[in-house]
Parts: sequence; structure tokens; C-alpha cells
Amino acid sequence: MSKKPNIGTICVQGGYAPGNGQPRQIPIIQSTTFKYDTSEHMGKLFDLEASGYFYSRLQNPTCDHVAARITALEGGTAGMLTSSGQAANFFAVFNICNQGGHVVCSSSIYGGTYNLFNVTMRKMGLDFTFVSPYCSDAELDAAFKPNTKCVFGESVANPNLTVLDIERFANAAHSHGVPFIIDNTFPTPINCRPIEWGADIVTHSTTKYMDGHASTVGGAIVDAGRFDWLAHAEKFPGLTTPDDSYHGIVYAERFGLGGAFITKCVAQLMRDFGASPSAQSAYVVGLGLESLHLRMKRHCENAQAVAEFLQAHDKIAWVNFPGLPSSRDYTLAQKYMPNGSCGVVSFGVKGGRAAAEKMMSALKVAIIATHVADAHSCVLHPANATHRQLSDAELEAAGIPADLIRLSVGIEDAEDIIGDLAQALENV
Ligand SMILES: *Cc1c(COP(=O)(O)O)cnc(C)c1O
Repeated sequence: MSKKPNIGTICVQGGYAPGNGQPRQIPIIQSTTFKYDTSEHMGKLFDLEASGYFYSRLQNPTCDHVAARITALEGGTAGMLTSSGQAANFFAVFNICNQGGHVVCSSSIYGGTYNLFNVTMRKMGLDFTFVSPYCSDAELDAAFKPNTKCVFGESVANPNLTVLDIERFANAAHSHGVPFIIDNTFPTPINCRPIEWGADIVTHSTTKYMDGHASTVGGAIVDAGRFDWLAHAEKFPGLTTPDDSYHGIVYAERFGLGGAFITKCVAQLMRDFGASPSAQSAYVVGLGLESLHLRMKRHCENAQAVAEFLQAHDKIAWVNFPGLPSSRDYTLAQKYMPNGSCGVVSFGVKGGRAAAEKMMSALKVAIIATHVADAHSCVLHPANATHRQLSDAELEAAGIPADLIRLSVGIEDAEDIIGDLAQALENV
């Protein structure tokens, strides 16, 4: 293709171009290992002097095709898959920030990521400062320390749907000589491409819309290939000084702006932690990506219709959805994701905890599940599930009121989803 393909074409064809007589679909190479004619050739692979596959803990052709498709969708230079979104965020940060390092992080992030950072990575000797996504420029600036190595945020936060001012966070990171890492799981590159707004590293839980069918846990990391590690060499010795485990390779010199971050992440973190996806799992993600552009459009249309229905209903106390003009983040959403944000809507039923439960148990189309962001509509009541140990006052303090219902709007017919909500609300 001469002209750069459009996003839908990348969804269907990106990252894999079969040659003459080769399979149309990405082949599932379900093999741990690969054969070589000489041990000398094999040695070059181990030393990163030649590229090729040798063991699927590090790299696998199926996984690499799918990673290349996600990289093309985000507009990056290199990418990799991981076995979960948790592994992707851990690797993305730990690749450049070790013991003694510090991260500036938006406080509006997925609970699992918050736990990873604030509990587990603190135990590993990393430090985090959490800032409100709505903080002033001065407050954001004041969060940086001499040992800050990166800034982290979510484009649309799970579950409270905060839309991050991506440019502002990217500019703050760059003015302090560090990269901006963003988790783009909820909008997906169909609705938002953070690299176009200055983000340096993009992460995903492919478990959500990318797979899209509630079938496979997975993650991905994409590098924009723009952050100049050598210009800030003293901050990032892992990329700018010799790696003894690879005969003294300096990643930033050998693999350049476009390849250093991901090569180091595969060669060190995937080698040592082994959070690699199976070829079968990668294949499922690749299949999901082929309809991502169609599904995201439908998720957003359905969610918009559901949000408008709920807002007009007299038994509903409040609705939060970035596509509603009444949303605090409506203007940011219009800027960064004008075609829609995601399919998740949160709302409260008048009558609090008890009313929420009564309404949810009467639903027939939307099932009660912990999942979000797949083809099937589902609901979760955090006060009675993920956060059930908290009192109403503690929930309020955590920004999750007792009446909050998180509804992940699927791609069924909007009429049926809304009809289901309407009949369930009659019980309240
Ligand atoms: C689900 C999720 C994760 C964690 O992903 P897993 O695939 O469940 O490990 C990380 N970030 C966001 C925004 C998520 O929604």
C-alpha cells in the first residue's frame, strides 16, 4: 500500500501480510521452540546480534503479528504482547523505573493498577505520587522529584470514566525530561490515539475491547519511538549503559529511538518474569481486532442511547458518561475522542444500595459480572461486590457512592438493552 491505510484497514490487515500460498489468517505457531542448522546461528540470536525466534517465552511469530497490528493502530514504532494488562503496566513502568525511582501517577486509574503500584511496586522500592487528573498545573509540576522516571495515567479511567487531559500530562512529563506512559484500554486506538497527543508509551489490557468477547486475558505495550533516552542518559541507565546480561549492549545505541524500549523490555523483563501470552491467546486477540472498529462504533452508539435514556428517567439519581454534555469531562472527550469514548456508563438509582440491588436482579439482557468492555452487556454494583467491605461513608470517600452501578453496554440491539433497563426500573 502506498498511502498509509485508514484505521479500519489496519484492524483487518495490519501486522500480517501473507506471501504467495500462505494462510490468509495469522497462523497459530503453537511451538515453544524453533530449529536451527548450527549452534553458531543460535548463539547470535541469544546475543541479540541476529533477529529470529528461539523460545516462545521471549518471542513467538503469532504474538509478534498481533503486536505489530496493535502497534500500527496506535501509530507506534515497536510493540509487544503480555499475558495480561497487569503485566503490561508492570513491564512498561519497571522497564525504566527501578528501586529508588519515582513515578507521577494520575489518581484516577484502574484499581488493579493502583494496587500494583501503591502496594506491590512500593515493596520493590519504587515511590509513587498520585495527583488528581483535575489538579492545577502548579500542583502537577510540584509532584515531580529529582528521581522521577515517568508519568502514568489512563486515557479514560476504569471505572470512574475520568477523561485525562493527555496533552497537559505529556507536556508536564517532557518538561521534566521523562516519558509519559498511558493506559488506553477503554477508548482503544479506534477512539483515541494518545501518541498523536504526545504520549510516549501506550499500554493495553487487550482483555477488554480488543479481544472484545470476554474470552482471553492479555495485554500490550506500544512505544511511540520518540523519547530520546540518550538526551536524558543519567535518568535511564538501563537503556543508556551496557547490559552485562547481553555482552554489554547499550539498547539506546544499538536499537535507536524506535526499538530500544521494547527490545529491552523483551530481552530483560520477558526473559526474567515470563509473562508471555500463548500463541492461541494472541490469535484470539488478532481475531478480535479485525472487528474492533465496527464494535467500538456500536458500543458507543448503544452507550450514548442508554445514557440519554437513564438521564431522562425519574427513578435515576445521576448518570456519568463522557458523551453527555452534562459530564464534567465532556469537553475533554470532544477534544481527544470526538467519535466516542467507550461503552461504559455509570449511574445511581434513587433509593441507594437497596434500590440498586433490586433493579439489577431484575435485569435479563445485562448480566451481573465483574467484566467490562465486551460484546455482552453486563452490570456490576461495586458496593455489593468489589468494594463490599466498605461502609457507605467509606465508599463516598473513595469516589464510589453506594448507589453506583457500572453498566458495560454491549453490542446487542439498543432497544433491547433499554427495554430491559426500563422493566427492571419498574421494580424499584
Ligand atoms: C482491566 C484493566 C487492566 C488490567 O488488565 P488485565 O488484563 O485484567 O490484567 C488494566 N488497565 C485497565 C484500564 C483495565 O481496564
